[in-house]
Amino acid sequence: MIPVDEKIPEKINRLPELAYNLWWSWSLEARELFRRLDYPMWRRTQHNPVQMLQELSPIQLKAASQDGAFIRQYNKVMMLYDREMRNGRSWFHITYPEHIDKTIAYFSFEFGLHNSLPIYSGGLGILSGDHAKEASDLGLPFVGIGFMYPQGYFRQRIPSHGWQEAVYQQLDMGQTAIQPVKMADGQSLKVSVNLAGRTVYARVWRVLVGRVSLYLLDTDVDDNDPWDRELSARLYSGDSEMRIRQEIMLGVGGMRVLRALGVDPAVCHMNEGHSAFILLECMREYIAQGFSFREASEKVRANTVFTTHTPVPAGHDTFSFHMVEHYFNGFWDEIGISREQFLGLGGHEETWGMAFNMTVLALRLAGQSNAVSRLHGEVSRKMWQEVFPANAIDDVPISSITNGVHVPTWIASDLHELFDKYFGPEWRGRHDDPALWQRLVDIPDTELWQVHLLLKRMLMGFLRERARRRWVDGRNDPTQVLTNGTLLDPDALTIGFARRFATYKRANLIFRDLDRLQRLLLDIHRPVQLIFAGKAHPADDPGKALIQQIYNMAKHNQLGGRVAFVEDYDMHMARYLVQGVDVWLNTPRRPREASGTSGMKASLNGVPNLSIMDGWWVEGYNGANGWAIGGEIWEDHNAQDEHDANTLYQLLEDEIVPLYYGRDRDDVPRGWVDLMRETIRSNAPQFSMRRMVKEYTTELYLKAIEGEK
Ligand SMILES: *Cc1c(COP(=O)(O)O)cnc(C)c1O
Repeated sequence: MIPVDEKIPEKINRLPELAYNLWWSWSLEARELFRRLDYPMWRRTQHNPVQMLQELSPIQLKAASQDGAFIRQYNKVMMLYDREMRNGRSWFHITYPEHIDKTIAYFSFEFGLHNSLPIYSGGLGILSGDHAKEASDLGLPFVGIGFMYPQGYFRQRIPSHGWQEAVYQQLDMGQTAIQPVKMADGQSLKVSVNLAGRTVYARVWRVLVGRVSLYLLDTDVDDNDPWDRELSARLYSGDSEMRIRQEIMLGVGGMRVLRALGVDPAVCHMNEGHSAFILLECMREYIAQGFSFREASEKVRANTVFTTHTPVPAGHDTFSFHMVEHYFNGFWDEIGISREQFLGLGGHEETWGMAFNMTVLALRLAGQSNAVSRLHGEVSRKMWQEVFPANAIDDVPISSITNGVHVPTWIASDLHELFDKYFGPEWRGRHDDPALWQRLVDIPDTELWQVHLLLKRMLMGFLRERARRRWVDGRNDPTQVLTNGTLLDPDALTIGFARRFATYKRANLIFRDLDRLQRLLLDIHRPVQLIFAGKAHPADDPGKALIQQIYNMAKHNQLGGRVAFVEDYDMHMARYLVQGVDVWLNTPRRPREASGTSGMKASLNGVPNLSIMDGWWVEGYNGANGWAIGGEIWEDHNAQDEHDANTLYQLLEDEIVPLYYGRDRDDVPRGWVDLMRETIRSNAPQFSMRRMVKEYTTELYLKAIEGEK
């Protein structure tokens, strides 16, 4: 292959620079530019400009450089890009000019930025990715630290028996928007940590996310033994020993990356307990500088922020004392405490006895802790009260900041353009301002509805083409062609459900009364259809059984092809789903959904939620922007399911179906379009990543920067 630099004509020679900054992925204009370059290739590579620039022929590139319309778009995009990169008038610069030289370091096991960089599994990763993008938009002095997993998270295959299979693919690093970090002397940056007597090295990749840099550790280097090279091969695939090694690498190795780059963070934000070993590494550094244990603790507290993400006990990492001792043998001497005191820092009673709990470690040592929705805050304060025995439940120091989603990433392009037309392009800069969204009334019913219908057709086209490709490749049998959604009808009321398949999310709730569901699905005049997607963790057999159950429903001839289970849910598919269905369904067992964010993405696109009163929906539902199920918690799970399912059917039968099919003479459902408007108006600003990052800044980061406690 000809090197990219040599074949790109001068007139468009900054395309590689653009392709290597993920900013393009949330710029409407930049996406349009790459789409124009070669539309079939854009689709085939699932929107990967780095790969496109490699595969495009010199002739195609030359033609682009001679195409006036392309050059105009190119110049416009480069101007927007330069303006964004040099932006000295961002929110942070204007509001906190005295702090622009500080650094906020954000540690996360996973980052969901774009599907071409598959280093995320689900909600936690998407949240980190969205957080980094918004930090760039708002101009925060922000860096991210995580892992480069060469095999990423698994790709899901559903064979004809319905039992999920995990496929791991080696990522082609050369076709991914990552670059090795070089030091001033031209050498690649490498850091090392001690793992139970062995030195393990990691190289470091950099990802540009607008103005923000993300540093990713990768242990696949020659200096390491084979088993250490595998350390960062995959996301969430190892046993608990692999896990503690990864967590030491992220916390301790991650801090060392910052040190090597000369960064002294004013804030260390631990997104989930995975990176809580940072706290120990910082303690060690302070004590080595001569501070006492008490002084070092105060200093560590002053600039650390910890976010907890789930009320489900299994979601909190724990390690046996034995294992912690193995990896931290003698560490207690370095920080001047006893072995018992050291193990006590994370000590927590688990179902099988005492163990070392990463959440407990973080809650004890971090200066500020928060949960991710109001209800989750309440649940977390109760759940972790024993860590703060002197505090009443209400005084347990865990606050809450409700999650949000990055608006430019998740909004459909066609809707984006509609808002440009009616609000003027300035709307982008103030999308967290509720006043802006009052202007939705200016958009005529027919136009909003036409855009929605277009998005719905795009979703079905996307699913059909995927199924067709697999059929042509010989990978699927006819049943799989059916279960992947080829019988879906763009005119039928379409309900989407996509999330991780954990049993508490109750994906099968809507199948509880099959006869009643069948009447809804097969109604000749007012049919309903369901689209499911989602992966189960590779070790979660009950989750896989749930997928199999839904898959069997999709296969069930009595349901007439009106149920689909589409395989391999990822960010790419998520965009089509949250933008293209009519209703977003969520049926977790309250109160286990800490927040949930896919429903926020749907809302932003005018897709109302039909959801259990749990997580964000407790704050999002206002009586006129969707539907709420339950709220009360029953002891008996079976009774709870019966009650919730009954409410679900009733809402569908009595409200949702009639409203959707209540058409005017021009075939526009006026009532439904009003509902779409209300959904966007009430939820888009409130559950935007912009509102969220501003709250993290004013409520948590500033305190840490200013050194208060
Ligand atoms: C948004 C998103 C999630 C998280 O959705 P929840 O509603 O929090 O379950 C998971 N996976 C993908 C691919 C997403 O885009």
